[in-house]
Amino acid sequence: MSENNLSFPLSISIDNQAAIQSGEGFYSRPGSYLADRFRRMMQKLAKDHPDFDITIRWIPGHEGVHGNEEADKAAKLAATGKQHNSPRTRLPQYLRLDSLPLSISALKQAHRKASHSHWTRIWSKSPRFTRTQQIDPNTINRSFLKLTATFPKRLTSLLMNLRSRHIPLNRHLHRIGKSDSPNCAHCPQDEETIHHYLFDCSHVRHERHILTNTLGRKASSLPFLLTNIDAIHHLIRFINATKRFKTTFGEVKMPVPRPT
Ligand SMILES: [Zn+2]
Repeated sequence: MSENNLSFPLSISIDNQAAIQSGEGFYSRPGSYLADRFRRMMQKLAKDHPDFDITIRWIPGHEGVHGNEEADKAAKLAATGKQHNSPRTRLPQYLRLDSLPLSISALKQAHRKASHSHWTRIWSKSPRFTRTQQIDPNTINRSFLKLTATFPKRLTSLLMNLRSRHIPLNRHLHRIGKSDSPNCAHCPQDEETIHHYLFDCSHVRHERHILTNTLGRKASSLPFLLTNIDAIHHLIRFINATKRFKTTFGEVKMPVPRPT
């Protein structure tokens, strides 16, 4: 298929659900450069053709779709040996390199990994390291596993998100490109961090008041809120009452049995 003889509407049938669902937010996997490439190709086509109209649909196999069967045959032939590879000049430009291109997301991930280990090295030498060690995001330690063993899944993942700080509050959402601003919707001058949400945000002061009344001074200690079974109950009550994570976690169920 070449760009010049395209006519719309056009329909592409794919039998791989993962490939379809990868959509915009692509992750890094072997071959994801192909998805990157495909996405860029679609963007270019949409720009160049005012009548651009392409539907991508899932089919339970490629039987009966002529183009797909041809592609499947060609792939099987190519897999039988190098001698069946297409001559380099007939390949799309980006496949003519000696090694396969990396996807953008793979590059980004490699970068994140490298900076993470760099960060870990620096952080472990910091005096604050020992103090915060008990809620270190990477420590899914035995006591946490024991604590959450009987918890509903949703609660465990909420607690893990709070520990790792990968929680759908604007500061994190902004960092992963899912929110325009890192700031709190109610306090424009403050970043919406876990700390802001739990301890500062005036929008939820009523809910916080209840939490503080019940737990006292310890209500302002994140490690306490995340590790003490009694505190977790009150924390969940606070979280449900503020409805801040409702779209992500729904109504979070309390662990059973409830402490007396
Ligand atoms: Zn706020």
